[in-house]
Formats: sequence, structure tokens, C-alpha cells
Amino acid sequence: MSHDAPTHRDSGRRQFLQAVLSSAVVGVASQAAMELAAPGRLNAQTNLSPDAALRELLTGNERFAANQLTSIEHDLTVLKEKTVAKQEPFAAVLSCADSRVPVELIFDQTIGHIFVTRVAGNLVTPEIIASLEYGVAVLGVKVVLVLGHSGCGAVKASLKADTVPGQISVLYAHLRPAVERSGGDFEKAIEANAKIQAELLRTSSTVIRDAIKAGKLNVEAAVYDLASGKVTVG
Ligand SMILES: [Zn+2]
Repeated sequence: MSHDAPTHRDSGRRQFLQAVLSSAVVGVASQAAMELAAPGRLNAQTNLSPDAALRELLTGNERFAANQLTSIEHDLTVLKEKTVAKQEPFAAVLSCADSRVPVELIFDQTIGHIFVTRVAGNLVTPEIIASLEYGVAVLGVKVVLVLGHSGCGAVKASLKADTVPGQISVLYAHLRPAVERSGGDFEKAIEANAKIQAELLRTSSTVIRDAIKAGKLNVEAAVYDLASGKVTVG
């Protein structure tokens, strides 16, 4: 077994944590100011670039898929103490509500790292946009990842236009464009939906659009595979 890989991984992890911690003071000040001042200004609360933020998520997912989690080594008591007064997540994820997609776990992250919004079918609603705009404009996340997943029940039901109880069918209208684009193929519909919702975020939110234009944010679509544990950006 090689001794190089874990050392390299630990070193990268340390650098990442240092980058996050070094921005803590600035983060608290700007977050407080932002909450008092009129909204609309963008704050950079981590030193990561949008590309580096996405890379951090994906390397975390590689650790998860390889069963080499490092997030469980953190002292949760210390992390809780450090995050009582502030949060400075480097990424936001719009995920399905599915219990098989535990967001922090599959990206090997812990308290304070990811700003997560979840709704069945990982779809964009005004409330989801509002939440993610808070993540971008106030908390300064550098990447927003729309995360679909294999075996998504919401997409499947929408494909078959199943009769469902209560208000579940409200989801169908949001998922219809993906269903139409998929030609009836389940996997294609899942992938298309993540892409469509990501594009919706890029175009329907002025906060997100401006942050992308300023080079402060990336919005990406990805699919999580339940069997392999791997996330593929597409
Ligand atoms: Zn789902």
C-alpha cells in the first residue's frame, strides 16, 4: 500500500481548511454587514475559486466512493462551537429529498461546509431560488451544484404520469421539460432534469446570473449514482 496518497490527501485537506479558516474574520464581518445593509452586494467568504470549490466537492466524492472518508475525523464539538455565530459554506447543493442521497456524506463534508436545499426531484421553485440566492449573496458560496440521482422516484412518477395522492403531482409540471427531452428514457430524464434546473437557476435569478458574470460563481449539474456512490458532472 502506498504511503503517498493519504499524505497528499491530508495535505490538500489542510490547505483547504486553512483557506476556509483564514477567511473566517472577514466572513463574520461581511456577513453581519450584509444582514444589516441592503441586499445585493456579493461577498467572498472563502478563498476558493469557483473551479476549486467544485473540485473540493468532487474530490470529497472520490473519497466517499472509495470508502476513505476524512470528514468523520473532525471533532464535531469543536466544529459546532466554531459555527454557532457564523456559517461560511464554500458550496451550495440543490438535491432531491431522497434518503439515499445524504449530501454531506457523499461529498465527505461536515458542519458548515455545504448550504443544502432539498426538494423531491431537485427542482427550482421561487423558495429554492430565494434560499440559494441567500447562499450566494450573503454566505458567498462559490459553486451551486444541482444534483440529480439514479432511481429518482419523482422523475419516474413524472415519466409515467402516475396518479398520486395529495399534492404530489405538483412536482410533475416542473419535471415535464426533462421528461419531454428524454424521449421516455428514465436515465436521460434524470440527467436532463439536473441540467434544466441548473439552467433555470442561471437564467431566472439575477443574483446568480450576476455572480456568474462576475466570475464569482459556477452553477453545475450532476448526477449521483446510487450503486457506485459516484457523482458525475454533466
Ligand atoms: Zn429523487
